Amino acid sequence: MQAIIGEREVSSQKLIEVRNPASGEVVDTVPSLDRDQVREAIDVAYNSQEKLLAMAVAKRSKALLQIASLIRESLNDLAVLMTRETGRPIKSSRGEIERTAQIFELAAAEVRRVMEGKYVPLDAYEFPPGNERRFALVRREPLGVVAAITPFNFPAASFAHKVAPALAVGNTVVFKPSSLTPLTQMRLATLVLRVFPRGVLNVITGDSTMIGDEFVNNEKVSLITFTGSASVGLELASRAVKQGKRVIMELGGSDAMIVLEDADLKRAVKSAVIGRFDFAGQFCNATKRVIVRREVEDQFLKMLKEELKKLKAGDPLDESVDVAPLISEQARDRMREFLEDAVKGGGEIVFQIDVPKHGNYFPPTVFKAPPKLKLRALWEETFGPILPVIPVDSDDEAIKVANSTEYGLDASVFTSNFSRAYEIATKLKVGTVVINDTTRLRWDNLPFGGVKKSGIGRESIVDTMTEMTETKLLVYSI
Ligand code: NAD
Repeated sequence: MQAIIGEREVSSQKLIEVRNPASGEVVDTVPSLDRDQVREAIDVAYNSQEKLLAMAVAKRSKALLQIASLIRESLNDLAVLMTRETGRPIKSSRGEIERTAQIFELAAAEVRRVMEGKYVPLDAYEFPPGNERRFALVRREPLGVVAAITPFNFPAASFAHKVAPALAVGNTVVFKPSSLTPLTQMRLATLVLRVFPRGVLNVITGDSTMIGDEFVNNEKVSLITFTGSASVGLELASRAVKQGKRVIMELGGSDAMIVLEDADLKRAVKSAVIGRFDFAGQFCNATKRVIVRREVEDQFLKMLKEELKKLKAGDPLDESVDVAPLISEQARDRMREFLEDAVKGGGEIVFQIDVPKHGNYFPPTVFKAPPKLKLRALWEETFGPILPVIPVDSDDEAIKVANSTEYGLDASVFTSNFSRAYEIATKLKVGTVVINDTTRLRWDNLPFGGVKKSGIGRESIVDTMTEMTETKLLVYSI
């Protein structure tokens, strides 16, 4: 596929291969653009804002609805493409494409309200004197060019969470997908550009350090919205803020699932399986640690094993398959390192399930990890199908262990006692707490994001639109 800069489809001498992680086959290639081409994309976006603003809010809102329809019309093709480049089982890819259409619909609805602004009679203020003859208007204005960077694991939904609100409020976009999974997003961009004028959305691929550097230093970029790892995101954010840019950072997590002794264990086990092993655990809000009251640890592990045995591995395009490969060989090697570290440090593997020998599969693994052990998997983000189960003796200990990482994205608590759940939830240092369900859920118009190294700001349709606009106060003296 080719990059999109203004009216043109752009290629380059140097190409990046996009491989299917389940089979290793090359699905397609994308260009590795040079710095001049990246600058050109930013210039085009900058010069195209007038075209976008010539579309009234109502027209932009209707355009977003049209995009949602186009996405639904191509739902199956997009889902297959996504599965081929990510290895994500097809039924799960289909869900994400449906969700992508919904994000465009939510943006279409919300933009009419978000852009409303307000009228303020200033005689409500005693100071400064003379307010009887003054009033003010508070209006929202778009920022200009939004530079967007997305991770490999959520190609369609993260595209929508950045592009739909940006265009809705009148910002043009330069979009850089992950080089590992750019194809679904490039296809989605062509659908957007069937409805919006060329130039308002530009898609570039290539060396991420160079592109990130250009986004940070190019004065025509007003805001960088980044979803990806904390190490890359925080470094990018600190440099961007120094240049006076706004940032939205959706970063990593080490979500804990707390299982109390009065929990519905069947429900907890099902949530742990979805939370940790869906798409091989490659979600920011995957359940990365289970913290279980010792009274029910054995029972929980026994039931978890039975549930895990039901998972089916195989071709991700097969409707009945649940087990996904990891995105790359490096990601698989990293999982191996985490597990070796865990075993060396005193963790005890309780069970593993078999996976295909080809591609980047790694066996879903559960291991016992008493909290006193200093295992990397207990404080670093594990982006793969390994699950430490940590026994604790009190609710306070559960909270302490849950809060013991540098991350703070989500957590879940399983209990039949609402007050206990509430008490624990208020003490967890995270952006979202889910009671009696998996952390692997997201409601697209509710604030999503984390504390500590899990992010800066919140992403929801309304939160993102607010962040992507400037508030201007107009005061009239009459
Ligand atoms: P990553 O940080 O390696 O890459 C993310 C994006 O940044 C990619 O497009 C990559 O090409 C680009 N990138 C890499 N180095 C860069 C640089 N120096 N300058 C600019 N861009 C650069 O992350 P990943 O492996 O693709 O995705 C997994 C990570 O994303 C996990 O940590 C996961 O938790 C996180 N994530 C967070 C959320 C969220 O909403 N909080 C959602 C999905 C994924």
